[in-house]
Amino acid sequence: MTDTQNPTSHPESSTAVWCESALLADGWARSVKLTIADGRIARIDTDASAGDAVRLGPALPGLGNVHSHAFQRAMAGLAEIRGDTGDTFWTWREVMYRFLERLDPDMAQAIAAMGQMEMLEGGFTRVGEFHYLHHAPDGGFYDNPAEMAARMAAAAQETGIGLTLLPVFYAHSNFGGLPPTDGQKRFIHDVDAFARLVEACRGIVAGLPEAVVGIAPHSLRAVTAEELDAILPLAAGGPIHMHVAEQTKEVDDCLAATGQRPVRWLMNHTEVDKRWCLIHATHINATETERLAKSGATAGLCPVTEANLGDGIFPTPDYLAAGGSFGIGTDSNILINAAEELRTMEYAQRLSRRARNVLASGPRRSTGGDLWRAATMGGAQALGVGRGGLRRGAPADFVTLDANHPNLVGRSGDALIDSLVFAGGGIDTVWRHGKQLVSDGRHHARDAIAGRYAATLKALLT
Ligand code: ZN
Repeated sequence: MTDTQNPTSHPESSTAVWCESALLADGWARSVKLTIADGRIARIDTDASAGDAVRLGPALPGLGNVHSHAFQRAMAGLAEIRGDTGDTFWTWREVMYRFLERLDPDMAQAIAAMGQMEMLEGGFTRVGEFHYLHHAPDGGFYDNPAEMAARMAAAAQETGIGLTLLPVFYAHSNFGGLPPTDGQKRFIHDVDAFARLVEACRGIVAGLPEAVVGIAPHSLRAVTAEELDAILPLAAGGPIHMHVAEQTKEVDDCLAATGQRPVRWLMNHTEVDKRWCLIHATHINATETERLAKSGATAGLCPVTEANLGDGIFPTPDYLAAGGSFGIGTDSNILINAAEELRTMEYAQRLSRRARNVLASGPRRSTGGDLWRAATMGGAQALGVGRGGLRRGAPADFVTLDANHPNLVGRSGDALIDSLVFAGGGIDTVWRHGKQLVSDGRHHARDAIAGRYAATLKALLT
Protein backbone atom coordinates (compact mmCIF):
# COMPACT_ATOMS: atom_id res chain seq x y z
CA MET A 1 0.00 0.00 0.00
CA THR A 2 1.32 3.42 -0.89
CA ASP A 3 -0.09 6.78 0.01
CA THR A 4 -0.38 8.40 -3.40
CA GLN A 5 -2.62 11.35 -2.62
CA ASN A 6 0.25 13.77 -2.51
CA PRO A 7 3.05 12.03 -4.36
CA THR A 8 4.93 15.09 -5.50
CA SER A 9 5.22 16.75 -2.12
CA HIS A 10 8.86 16.66 -1.01
CA PRO A 11 9.40 19.84 0.98
CA GLU A 12 13.03 20.76 1.50
CA SER A 13 12.60 20.64 5.28
CA SER A 14 11.38 17.04 5.15
CA THR A 15 12.94 14.12 7.00
CA ALA A 16 12.38 10.48 6.15
CA VAL A 17 12.46 7.64 8.64
CA TRP A 18 12.11 3.97 7.83
CA CYS A 19 10.64 1.63 10.45
CA GLU A 20 10.80 -2.13 10.14
CA SER A 21 7.11 -2.12 11.07
CA ALA A 22 4.64 0.46 12.33
CA LEU A 23 1.26 0.56 14.02
CA LEU A 24 -0.53 2.92 11.64
CA ALA A 25 -4.03 4.28 12.22
CA ASP A 26 -5.42 1.47 10.05
CA GLY A 27 -3.27 -1.30 11.49
CA TRP A 28 0.21 -2.79 11.44
CA ALA A 29 2.31 -2.45 8.31
CA ARG A 30 5.81 -3.60 7.43
CA SER A 31 8.77 -1.62 6.06
CA VAL A 32 7.15 1.74 6.64
CA LYS A 33 8.71 4.95 5.41
CA LEU A 34 7.38 8.10 7.02
CA THR A 35 8.13 11.37 5.29
CA ILE A 36 7.91 14.17 7.81
CA ALA A 37 7.52 17.84 6.94
CA ASP A 38 6.79 20.75 9.27
CA GLY A 39 6.37 18.36 12.18
CA ARG A 40 3.66 16.32 10.49
CA ILE A 41 3.50 13.08 8.57
CA ALA A 42 3.44 14.23 4.96
CA ARG A 43 3.54 10.81 3.38
CA ILE A 44 3.42 7.13 4.36
CA ASP A 45 4.87 4.38 2.18
CA THR A 46 4.57 0.76 3.22
CA ASP A 47 6.62 -2.20 1.94
CA ALA A 48 9.10 0.51 1.14
CA SER A 49 12.86 0.30 0.84
CA ALA A 50 14.81 2.31 3.38
CA GLY A 51 16.94 4.18 0.89
CA ASP A 52 18.81 6.87 2.79
CA ALA A 53 16.08 7.26 5.43
CA VAL A 54 16.95 6.94 9.13
CA ARG A 55 16.47 3.24 9.98
CA LEU A 56 14.45 2.48 13.09
CA GLY A 57 12.74 -0.45 14.81
CA PRO A 58 8.98 -0.99 15.15
CA ALA A 59 7.03 2.27 15.58
CA LEU A 60 4.00 3.04 17.71
CA PRO A 61 2.08 6.29 18.07
CA GLY A 62 3.24 8.21 21.14
CA LEU A 63 0.55 8.45 23.80
CA GLY A 64 -1.01 11.58 25.22
CA ASN A 65 -0.57 11.89 28.97
CA VAL A 66 -3.98 13.39 29.74
CA HIS A 67 -3.36 14.38 33.34
CA SER A 68 -0.25 15.71 35.06
CA HIS A 69 0.48 17.95 38.02
CA ALA A 70 4.11 18.60 37.16
CA PHE A 71 5.35 19.81 40.55
CA GLN A 72 4.17 16.64 42.27
CA ARG A 73 7.02 14.78 40.54
CA ALA A 74 9.25 16.11 43.32
CA MET A 75 7.11 14.47 46.01
CA ALA A 76 7.45 10.98 44.58
CA GLY A 77 8.10 8.59 47.45
CA LEU A 78 7.78 11.22 50.19
CA ALA A 79 4.33 10.22 51.41
CA GLU A 80 4.87 6.49 51.92
CA ILE A 81 5.25 6.49 55.73
CA ARG A 82 2.26 5.26 57.67
CA GLY A 83 0.72 7.81 60.00
CA ASP A 84 -1.21 7.26 63.23
CA THR A 85 -4.70 7.08 61.84
CA GLY A 86 -4.52 5.09 58.62
CA ASP A 87 -3.34 6.95 55.57
CA THR A 88 -5.71 8.21 52.91
CA PHE A 89 -5.69 10.60 49.98
CA TRP A 90 -6.44 13.41 52.39
CA THR A 91 -3.26 12.90 54.44
CA TRP A 92 -1.24 12.76 51.18
CA ARG A 93 -2.77 16.09 50.29
CA GLU A 94 -1.49 17.56 53.56
CA VAL A 95 2.07 16.55 52.62
CA MET A 96 1.56 18.22 49.24
CA TYR A 97 0.38 21.46 50.83
CA ARG A 98 3.43 21.62 53.13
CA PHE A 99 5.68 21.07 50.11
CA LEU A 100 4.10 24.05 48.40
CA GLU A 101 5.27 26.41 51.11
CA ARG A 102 8.72 26.45 49.48
CA LEU A 103 8.32 25.94 45.75
CA ASP A 104 9.36 28.92 43.58
CA PRO A 105 9.13 29.41 39.80
CA ASP A 106 12.69 28.23 39.06
CA MET A 107 12.06 25.09 41.10
CA ALA A 108 8.70 24.50 39.42
CA GLN A 109 10.31 24.75 35.98
CA ALA A 110 13.16 22.39 36.88
CA ILE A 111 10.72 19.82 38.26
CA ALA A 112 8.40 20.12 35.25
CA ALA A 113 11.29 19.63 32.84
CA MET A 114 12.32 16.48 34.70
CA GLY A 115 8.81 15.06 34.58
CA GLN A 116 8.29 15.94 30.92
CA MET A 117 11.62 14.37 30.00
CA GLU A 118 10.61 11.16 31.77
CA MET A 119 7.25 11.24 30.01
CA LEU A 120 9.00 11.32 26.65
CA GLU A 121 11.35 8.52 27.66
CA GLY A 122 8.32 6.57 28.89
CA GLY A 123 6.30 6.70 25.68
CA PHE A 124 4.30 9.91 26.01
CA THR A 125 4.64 12.61 23.36
CA ARG A 126 2.16 15.15 24.74
CA VAL A 127 1.09 16.17 28.22
CA GLY A 128 -2.08 17.76 29.51
CA GLU A 129 -0.74 19.91 32.33
CA PHE A 130 -3.58 20.41 34.82
CA HIS A 131 -1.95 23.52 36.11
CA TYR A 132 -3.17 24.83 39.46
CA LEU A 133 -0.06 26.15 41.21
CA HIS A 134 -0.44 29.79 40.19
CA HIS A 135 0.64 32.12 42.99
CA ALA A 136 3.53 32.92 45.31
CA PRO A 137 3.89 30.98 48.60
CA ASP A 138 2.04 33.73 50.50
CA GLY A 139 -0.89 33.45 48.09
CA GLY A 140 -0.16 36.77 46.36
CA PHE A 141 -0.09 37.02 42.59
CA TYR A 142 3.35 37.09 40.98
CA ASP A 143 4.22 40.31 39.10
CA ASN A 144 3.32 38.31 36.03
CA PRO A 145 0.13 36.54 37.19
CA ALA A 146 0.82 33.80 34.63
CA GLU A 147 4.44 33.29 35.78
CA MET A 148 3.97 29.65 36.73
CA ALA A 149 2.13 28.83 33.49
CA ALA A 150 5.00 30.42 31.59
CA ARG A 151 7.39 28.10 33.46
CA MET A 152 5.41 25.03 32.35
CA ALA A 153 5.70 26.26 28.76
CA ALA A 154 9.42 26.96 29.18
CA ALA A 155 9.92 23.39 30.36
CA ALA A 156 8.03 22.12 27.30
CA GLN A 157 10.20 24.31 25.09
CA GLU A 158 13.28 22.65 26.52
CA THR A 159 12.05 19.05 26.56
CA GLY A 160 10.15 19.24 23.28
CA ILE A 161 7.02 17.54 24.61
CA GLY A 162 3.67 18.59 23.13
CA LEU A 163 1.83 20.80 25.60
CA THR A 164 -1.88 21.04 26.24
CA LEU A 165 -1.97 23.67 28.95
CA LEU A 166 -5.01 23.46 31.20
CA PRO A 167 -5.08 26.41 33.61
CA VAL A 168 -7.13 25.43 36.63
CA PHE A 169 -9.93 27.40 38.18
CA TYR A 170 -9.99 26.74 41.93
CA ALA A 171 -12.03 28.86 44.34
CA HIS A 172 -13.35 26.85 47.28
CA SER A 173 -12.41 24.16 49.76
CA ASN A 174 -15.64 22.19 49.50
CA PHE A 175 -19.22 22.08 48.30
CA GLY A 176 -21.36 25.03 49.25
CA GLY A 177 -18.74 27.56 48.19
CA LEU A 178 -16.72 27.18 51.38
CA PRO A 179 -13.70 29.51 51.55
CA PRO A 180 -10.35 28.02 50.55
CA THR A 181 -8.04 26.73 53.27
CA ASP A 182 -4.64 28.23 53.96
CA GLY A 183 -3.00 25.30 52.13
CA GLN A 184 -4.93 26.22 48.98
CA LYS A 185 -3.93 29.89 48.80
CA ARG A 186 -1.57 29.43 45.85
CA PHE A 187 -4.38 28.05 43.66
CA ILE A 188 -7.16 30.63 43.97
CA HIS A 189 -8.79 32.94 41.39
CA ASP A 190 -12.07 34.72 40.96
CA VAL A 191 -13.71 34.41 37.57
CA ASP A 192 -12.33 37.66 36.15
CA ALA A 193 -8.75 36.95 37.17
CA PHE A 194 -9.08 33.45 35.75
CA ALA A 195 -10.28 34.83 32.42
CA ARG A 196 -7.14 36.97 32.28
CA LEU A 197 -5.01 33.93 33.10
CA VAL A 198 -6.53 31.88 30.27
CA GLU A 199 -5.89 34.74 27.85
CA ALA A 200 -2.30 35.03 29.06
CA CYS A 201 -1.82 31.27 28.58
CA ARG A 202 -2.79 31.61 24.92
CA GLY A 203 0.03 34.10 24.48
CA ILE A 204 2.49 32.01 26.49
CA VAL A 205 2.13 28.92 24.30
CA ALA A 206 2.04 30.81 21.00
CA GLY A 207 5.68 29.97 20.26
CA LEU A 208 5.38 26.25 21.03
CA PRO A 209 4.63 23.96 18.09
CA GLU A 210 1.08 22.57 18.14
CA ALA A 211 0.38 23.72 21.70
CA VAL A 212 -3.24 23.76 22.87
CA VAL A 213 -4.94 25.72 25.65
CA GLY A 214 -8.01 24.42 27.42
CA ILE A 215 -9.46 25.00 30.87
CA ALA A 216 -9.78 22.93 34.00
CA PRO A 217 -12.42 23.67 36.60
CA HIS A 218 -10.64 21.80 39.41
CA SER A 219 -13.51 19.74 40.85
CA LEU A 220 -17.09 20.14 41.93
CA ARG A 221 -15.87 20.78 45.44
CA ALA A 222 -13.67 23.71 44.32
CA VAL A 223 -16.09 25.41 41.91
CA THR A 224 -19.69 26.52 42.40
CA ALA A 225 -22.35 25.93 39.76
CA GLU A 226 -22.41 29.64 38.93
CA GLU A 227 -18.65 29.81 38.56
CA LEU A 228 -18.67 26.72 36.36
CA ASP A 229 -21.21 28.35 34.05
CA ALA A 230 -19.12 31.52 33.93
CA ILE A 231 -15.82 29.87 33.03
CA LEU A 232 -16.91 27.19 30.55
CA PRO A 233 -17.10 29.63 27.60
CA LEU A 234 -13.43 30.47 28.20
CA ALA A 235 -12.54 27.04 26.77
CA ALA A 236 -13.46 28.47 23.36
CA GLY A 237 -13.71 25.02 21.79
CA GLY A 238 -10.60 23.70 23.56
CA PRO A 239 -10.51 20.82 26.03
CA ILE A 240 -12.29 20.98 29.40
CA HIS A 241 -10.84 18.79 32.14
CA MET A 242 -12.18 18.27 35.64
CA HIS A 243 -11.47 15.93 38.55
CA VAL A 244 -14.66 14.04 39.32
CA ALA A 245 -15.56 11.32 41.83
CA GLU A 246 -11.98 10.38 42.72
CA GLN A 247 -12.85 9.75 46.34
CA THR A 248 -15.88 8.28 48.08
CA LYS A 249 -15.83 11.26 50.46
CA GLU A 250 -16.34 13.54 47.48
CA VAL A 251 -19.32 11.46 46.37
CA ASP A 252 -20.79 11.62 49.90
CA ASP A 253 -20.21 15.38 50.13
CA CYS A 254 -21.78 15.93 46.71
CA LEU A 255 -24.81 13.83 47.62
CA ALA A 256 -25.21 15.82 50.83
CA ALA A 257 -24.88 19.16 49.04
CA THR A 258 -26.87 18.49 45.86
CA GLY A 259 -28.79 15.24 46.33
CA GLN A 260 -26.92 13.80 43.33
CA ARG A 261 -23.71 11.89 42.73
CA PRO A 262 -20.94 14.01 41.10
CA VAL A 263 -20.98 12.63 37.55
CA ARG A 264 -24.78 12.64 37.50
CA TRP A 265 -24.87 16.20 38.81
CA LEU A 266 -22.34 17.39 36.25
CA MET A 267 -24.07 15.73 33.30
CA ASN A 268 -27.45 17.08 34.39
CA HIS A 269 -26.02 20.54 34.86
CA THR A 270 -24.13 21.04 31.61
CA GLU A 271 -23.54 19.40 28.26
CA VAL A 272 -20.66 17.00 28.73
CA ASP A 273 -19.43 16.07 25.25
CA LYS A 274 -16.22 15.17 23.43
CA ARG A 275 -14.50 18.36 24.55
CA TRP A 276 -14.59 17.03 28.11
CA CYS A 277 -12.19 14.80 29.96
CA LEU A 278 -13.43 13.62 33.35
CA ILE A 279 -10.38 12.83 35.44
CA HIS A 280 -10.62 9.62 37.52
CA ALA A 281 -14.43 9.25 37.62
CA THR A 282 -13.55 6.29 39.83
CA HIS A 283 -16.73 6.10 41.84
CA ILE A 284 -19.50 5.97 39.27
CA ASN A 285 -22.51 3.71 39.35
CA ALA A 286 -23.85 1.68 36.42
CA THR A 287 -26.11 4.47 35.16
CA GLU A 288 -23.30 7.04 35.28
CA THR A 289 -20.93 4.58 33.56
CA GLU A 290 -23.33 4.09 30.66
CA ARG A 291 -24.12 7.77 30.39
CA LEU A 292 -20.49 8.88 30.48
CA ALA A 293 -19.56 6.29 27.84
CA LYS A 294 -22.34 7.50 25.53
CA SER A 295 -21.53 11.19 26.04
CA GLY A 296 -18.44 11.10 23.83
CA ALA A 297 -16.31 12.53 26.65
CA THR A 298 -13.05 10.86 27.65
CA ALA A 299 -12.42 9.33 31.05
CA GLY A 300 -8.95 10.42 32.21
CA LEU A 301 -7.72 7.34 34.05
CA CYS A 302 -4.56 7.51 36.15
CA PRO A 303 -4.11 3.91 37.31
CA VAL A 304 -0.69 4.23 38.97
CA THR A 305 -1.65 7.31 40.98
CA GLU A 306 -5.09 5.90 41.79
CA ALA A 307 -3.35 2.79 43.14
CA ASN A 308 -0.81 4.85 45.06
CA LEU A 309 -3.50 7.02 46.65
CA GLY A 310 -5.84 4.11 47.30
CA ASP A 311 -8.61 5.80 45.32
CA GLY A 312 -10.39 2.72 44.03
CA ILE A 313 -10.90 0.97 40.70
CA PHE A 314 -12.70 2.48 37.72
CA PRO A 315 -15.34 0.16 36.18
CA THR A 316 -13.29 -0.15 32.98
CA PRO A 317 -14.86 -3.35 31.54
CA ASP A 318 -18.41 -1.98 31.74
CA TYR A 319 -17.30 1.41 30.45
CA LEU A 320 -15.50 -0.08 27.45
CA ALA A 321 -18.43 -2.40 26.74
CA ALA A 322 -20.65 0.70 26.55
CA GLY A 323 -18.27 2.26 24.01
CA GLY A 324 -16.49 4.61 26.40
CA SER A 325 -13.31 6.46 25.45
CA PHE A 326 -10.38 6.77 27.83
CA GLY A 327 -6.95 8.35 28.04
CA ILE A 328 -4.25 7.69 30.62
CA GLY A 329 -2.57 10.20 32.87
CA THR A 330 0.40 10.16 35.21
CA ASP A 331 -1.34 12.61 37.59
CA SER A 332 0.89 12.72 40.71
CA ASN A 333 3.91 11.62 38.64
CA ILE A 334 4.93 9.16 41.36
CA LEU A 335 6.13 6.93 38.50
CA ILE A 336 6.13 8.08 34.88
CA ASN A 337 5.69 5.39 32.23
CA ALA A 338 2.93 4.78 29.70
CA ALA A 339 3.29 1.00 29.73
CA GLU A 340 3.12 0.93 33.52
CA GLU A 341 -0.19 2.84 33.47
CA LEU A 342 -1.77 0.37 31.05
CA ARG A 343 -0.34 -2.59 32.99
CA THR A 344 -1.73 -1.29 36.28
CA MET A 345 -5.09 -0.66 34.63
CA GLU A 346 -5.33 -4.28 33.51
CA TYR A 347 -3.86 -5.73 36.71
CA ALA A 348 -6.41 -3.91 38.88
CA GLN A 349 -9.08 -5.81 36.95
CA ARG A 350 -7.23 -9.13 37.08
CA LEU A 351 -6.76 -8.93 40.83
CA SER A 352 -10.32 -7.90 41.59
CA ARG A 353 -11.95 -10.35 39.12
CA ARG A 354 -9.46 -13.24 39.38
CA ALA A 355 -9.32 -13.35 35.59
CA ARG A 356 -6.81 -12.60 32.85
CA ASN A 357 -6.85 -10.36 29.76
CA VAL A 358 -9.96 -8.57 31.01
CA LEU A 359 -9.60 -5.41 28.94
CA ALA A 360 -8.85 -6.91 25.51
CA SER A 361 -11.72 -5.94 23.26
CA GLY A 362 -12.68 -9.50 22.31
CA PRO A 363 -11.54 -13.12 21.90
CA ARG A 364 -8.07 -13.56 20.41
CA ARG A 365 -7.40 -9.87 20.85
CA SER A 366 -4.20 -8.47 22.34
CA THR A 367 -4.66 -6.72 25.68
CA GLY A 368 -1.61 -4.50 25.28
CA GLY A 369 -2.38 -3.68 21.67
CA ASP A 370 -6.02 -2.83 22.31
CA LEU A 371 -5.18 -0.66 25.32
CA TRP A 372 -2.42 1.20 23.44
CA ARG A 373 -4.74 1.91 20.48
CA ALA A 374 -7.60 3.05 22.71
CA ALA A 375 -5.32 5.27 24.81
CA THR A 376 -3.89 6.78 21.61
CA MET A 377 -7.31 7.84 20.37
CA GLY A 378 -8.70 8.89 23.74
CA GLY A 379 -5.54 10.77 24.63
CA ALA A 380 -5.55 12.75 21.39
CA GLN A 381 -9.20 13.69 21.77
CA ALA A 382 -8.81 14.70 25.41
CA LEU A 383 -5.78 16.86 24.62
CA GLY A 384 -7.44 18.64 21.73
CA VAL A 385 -5.29 17.27 18.88
CA GLY A 386 -7.72 15.37 16.71
CA ARG A 387 -8.11 11.66 16.15
CA GLY A 388 -4.65 10.41 17.11
CA GLY A 389 -2.58 7.70 15.51
CA LEU A 390 -0.06 7.60 12.71
CA ARG A 391 -1.80 8.78 9.57
CA ARG A 392 -1.04 11.21 6.79
CA GLY A 393 -1.41 14.80 8.02
CA ALA A 394 -1.17 13.81 11.70
CA PRO A 395 1.58 15.11 14.00
CA ALA A 396 4.78 13.08 13.67
CA ASP A 397 4.66 11.99 17.31
CA PHE A 398 5.88 8.43 17.70
CA VAL A 399 7.96 5.95 19.64
CA THR A 400 10.20 3.27 18.18
CA LEU A 401 11.19 0.08 19.93
CA ASP A 402 14.46 -1.79 20.17
CA ALA A 403 13.50 -5.04 18.48
CA ASN A 404 16.55 -6.72 20.04
CA HIS A 405 15.61 -5.83 23.62
CA PRO A 406 15.38 -9.10 25.61
CA ASN A 407 11.67 -8.53 26.26
CA LEU A 408 10.87 -7.80 22.60
CA VAL A 409 13.15 -10.03 20.58
CA GLY A 410 11.33 -12.33 18.15
CA ARG A 411 7.97 -10.51 18.46
CA SER A 412 6.00 -8.69 15.82
CA GLY A 413 2.72 -6.75 15.65
CA ASP A 414 0.63 -6.56 18.81
CA ALA A 415 2.89 -9.11 20.53
CA LEU A 416 5.45 -6.30 20.70
CA ILE A 417 3.00 -4.10 22.60
CA ASP A 418 1.93 -6.93 24.90
CA SER A 419 5.57 -7.43 25.85
CA LEU A 420 6.22 -3.69 26.15
CA VAL A 421 3.19 -3.28 28.43
CA PHE A 422 3.50 -6.41 30.56
CA ALA A 423 7.24 -7.12 30.55
CA GLY A 424 8.48 -3.52 30.19
CA GLY A 425 11.48 -1.84 28.65
CA GLY A 426 12.39 -1.55 25.00
CA ILE A 427 11.72 2.08 24.05
CA ASP A 428 14.54 3.18 21.78
CA THR A 429 13.70 6.52 20.12
CA VAL A 430 10.93 9.08 20.66
CA TRP A 431 9.94 11.70 18.11
CA ARG A 432 7.67 14.68 18.66
CA HIS A 433 6.63 17.18 16.02
CA GLY A 434 9.00 15.37 13.68
CA LYS A 435 12.01 15.91 15.91
CA GLN A 436 13.95 13.11 17.54
CA LEU A 437 14.12 13.82 21.28
CA VAL A 438 15.14 10.43 22.71
CA SER A 439 17.85 8.01 21.54
CA ASP A 440 18.64 4.65 23.19
CA GLY A 441 15.88 5.44 25.68
CA ARG A 442 17.55 8.66 26.88
CA HIS A 443 16.37 12.20 26.31
CA HIS A 444 18.97 14.30 24.52
CA ALA A 445 19.03 16.90 27.32
CA ARG A 446 18.91 14.38 30.17
CA ASP A 447 22.16 15.37 31.88
CA ALA A 448 21.32 19.08 32.08
CA ILE A 449 17.70 18.53 33.12
CA ALA A 450 18.51 15.87 35.71
CA GLY A 451 21.31 18.03 37.12
CA ARG A 452 19.00 20.99 37.65
CA TYR A 453 16.37 18.71 39.15
CA ALA A 454 18.86 17.26 41.63
CA ALA A 455 19.96 20.75 42.74
CA THR A 456 16.31 21.75 43.13
CA LEU A 457 15.46 18.72 45.25
CA LYS A 458 18.45 19.30 47.52
CA ALA A 459 17.32 22.88 48.06
CA LEU A 460 13.72 21.83 48.67
CA LEU A 461 14.33 18.93 50.99
CA THR A 462 17.24 20.09 53.13
ZN1 ZN B 1 -5.18 15.30 39.47
